[in-house]
Amino acid sequence: MFDTHQLVIGGELTDAASGETFESIDPSTGEVFAAVARGGQEDARRAVRAARTAFDEGPWPKMRGRDRAGHLLKVADLVKQNAKTLVDLEVRDAGHTVRMAAGADVGMVISTFRVFAELAAREADEQPLPRNPAPPSHNYLRREPLGVCVGITPWNFPMQMAAWKIAPAIAAGNTVVVKPASFTPTTTLEIGRLCVEAGIPEGVVNVVSGPGAAAGEELVSSPLVDKVAFTGSTEIGRRIMQLASSNIKKCTLELGGKSASVVLDDVDLDYVVDGALWGVFFHNGQVCSAGTRLFVHRSLHDDVLAELTKRAETLTVGPAPHTGSDLGPIISESQLDSVERYVEVGREEGADVLTGGERAIVEGHDGGYYYRPTIFAGVESSMRIAQEEIFGPVLAVIPFEDDDEAVRLANDSIYGLAGAVWCRDVGRAVKVAERLRTGTVWINDYHMINPRYPFGGYKQSGIGREHGDLGYDEYREVKHIHIDQSGSRERHVWWDITLPKRGASRNPGPEAPGSKHAG
Ligand code: NDP
Repeated sequence: MFDTHQLVIGGELTDAASGETFESIDPSTGEVFAAVARGGQEDARRAVRAARTAFDEGPWPKMRGRDRAGHLLKVADLVKQNAKTLVDLEVRDAGHTVRMAAGADVGMVISTFRVFAELAAREADEQPLPRNPAPPSHNYLRREPLGVCVGITPWNFPMQMAAWKIAPAIAAGNTVVVKPASFTPTTTLEIGRLCVEAGIPEGVVNVVSGPGAAAGEELVSSPLVDKVAFTGSTEIGRRIMQLASSNIKKCTLELGGKSASVVLDDVDLDYVVDGALWGVFFHNGQVCSAGTRLFVHRSLHDDVLAELTKRAETLTVGPAPHTGSDLGPIISESQLDSVERYVEVGREEGADVLTGGERAIVEGHDGGYYYRPTIFAGVESSMRIAQEEIFGPVLAVIPFEDDDEAVRLANDSIYGLAGAVWCRDVGRAVKVAERLRTGTVWINDYHMINPRYPFGGYKQSGIGREHGDLGYDEYREVKHIHIDQSGSRERHVWWDITLPKRGASRNPGPEAPGSKHAG
């Protein structure tokens, strides 16, 4: 028997209105490990109503930032206390290796809540603007919450994505409804439950698991929603923009990637090879920012390839709960099929598989979804394996002659999410980094995502930024308040322009023909 996970709506754990559930599969075994409430349109409507009421009538948006911060810190503490449960769920639901779930996921969730607590506590909501001398006025900006936010998240980092969507939204005084991916709903529901346990008022944080086409579309289309923050495929990102346009919702989109890792000719080979492996094979390449295109200076190309291949073959593909597994399973049978198809496409396009290129056999786990880390050489930038997001453990290696060619090839993509430059000469690396058309560039590093620094994409990798002050501002409206200080109507421009002439004008101007009222 397995647990049933309920929706979180209006501060309560609840079944779906239909009473239906769906099964969540453990990708390490291919077996069902949990039942989950199958939220539909009615549940999405219920959650939006709860969030709307909490925003319009509840205390949350009116609270001082430092008081909201206290609640976020409490959530961070509860995540820490419940780390074991969250790790177990993420390992089984999302196939995160136990090393990754314990070493990266929980830490990122905690720091995301803490960083946004800091921003909520520190940031003045009001900011003076330059004084206007004539007629004198005092002007200032006021930052206010947007209202009801919807977060739609993907299956690759469910627990982290839940924090990325909930923490900034509520820190800024909004209320939120999150819909996790149907492959991986459990940790998001658990984090929603912890938000309630932390004493966050009812309706501020709601989680509705259920199909994108039903629950997701209802959330994104609702006229009661003010903002949508989506992470997932570019294709669904387009659909989200269309639906969100009905009432001009604010949108932030974090979409696909095909990020470039550029190895210049002045590097420590050992360091770069390990860095490149981490860049592409972390979580099996199921990472939007994965360094799936490796551009290597021709003078190092053969040595880098040989060493990459040798080391990729030492990576252990195994069940997510085993501490000896370097790479766990792929999320699902359908994603495994998709990776397999892409590798066939690469072969048909004429690229050479140096290692991998097939499913991995993991003893005792025949039902799991495993693929061997795969490296392609002989790749042209125009090939589909160098252009399309595969979202699996597949690396395309391409040589270049000089820095200009490296930049041109790296920018030859519809995406622009992240990337890296590897070089001992940091000044030279910076020059290359500044020419890359991408939202983040790591120099001599990879995957250093941090809730203090903005993250998001150029081109079709998305709109807007998450994290840091910029990410925080995506959840706030800006209001300009103007306070007149002239004390006299005659000193105003309106005295001359529209009002009937009742005395001497400072600036009579030419007599306007015809009616006083234009338009
Ligand atoms: P999707 O973009 O389809 O799904 C992401 C989220 O959107 C899920 O919660 C999904 O719900 C939801 N969703 C789907 N359709 C709609 C809709 N019409 N309205 C509102 N919400 C919707 O990603 P997939 O999981 O299908 O993965 C497909 C490909 O996307 C991958 O192979 C990969 O290339 C890419 N991807 C990119 C990610 C990134 O971070 N950039 C993350 C994940 C995938 P549900 O799960 O119920 O369908």
